[in-house]
Amino acid sequence: MKEIFLCSICNVSNGGCKEDCTYCTQSYKYKTGVEIYKDKPIGDILQEAEYFADAGALGFCLVTAGRSLTSQKTEYISRAARAVKERFGFHLIACCGSADKESLKELKDAGVDSYNHNLETSRSFFPQVCTTHTWDERYETCENAASVGLMLCVGGIMGVGESWEDREEFYKAVSSLKPFTSPVNFYIPNPALPIQKGVMDRDEAIECIKLAKRYLPDTRLMMAGGREKVFGLEQKEIFDNGIDAVIIGGYLNACGKEPKRDIEMLRGYGLEIAAVCH
Ligand code: SF4
Repeated sequence: MKEIFLCSICNVSNGGCKEDCTYCTQSYKYKTGVEIYKDKPIGDILQEAEYFADAGALGFCLVTAGRSLTSQKTEYISRAARAVKERFGFHLIACCGSADKESLKELKDAGVDSYNHNLETSRSFFPQVCTTHTWDERYETCENAASVGLMLCVGGIMGVGESWEDREEFYKAVSSLKPFTSPVNFYIPNPALPIQKGVMDRDEAIECIKLAKRYLPDTRLMMAGGREKVFGLEQKEIFDNGIDAVIIGGYLNACGKEPKRDIEMLRGYGLEIAAVCH
């Protein structure tokens, strides 16, 4: 029986990012009204970790807003990682932007297993959605993470105006990094963001998942943002077409469902909930 891996996200700092990614509610440029804070207290992180561990999540991701992993962030994320790892284990992921090898090595030594850094879209299309940093900087960070022995979690976002050629180019690049996991996000429309696209049609979204699977047959494909918006309560098709993992309990600044309702849904589809991260 097919197993589904449950992953969870903890946004340990949120909003106020100086970059201009046009699909992101955390950029200071767009008045999206997301809560802005820095360095969530470690005690609060542990409470969230406990909630997700009890819900059956095997992965827990510490996410910061902002372009890069500064030395101050490295120290803080390392402290948080040690505290979470010691109490709950978890496959621990960090998502803290562009990073050099030294900082990434520090995270690894603190117990982080994987680094999440998305290429987001194709190299050709990237300048249409971000002008404050380059796609190459993103790719280089992924290479840095792999070089210090971190597993890679690398994916992107669909439905931001890219063509099918861009999607092919994007997945070719992702597959060259051989990620352990690849998150598939679908753009969630927000009137405050410059991208004025609607919710992607579900047939097109399924074609995107099939494309991802074709390029990444050995990677854990994770359905991330947009799952509920695109597929509503009828999600069986995404698992039939290659999704092996889901994020439970909501995304960075968009709500999901209560974890137990997701688990009931998965069991209703005849799927097992993974008990080990392998
Ligand atoms: S760098 Fe990250 S947090 Fe900042 S606007 Fe871009 S996607 Fe959002």
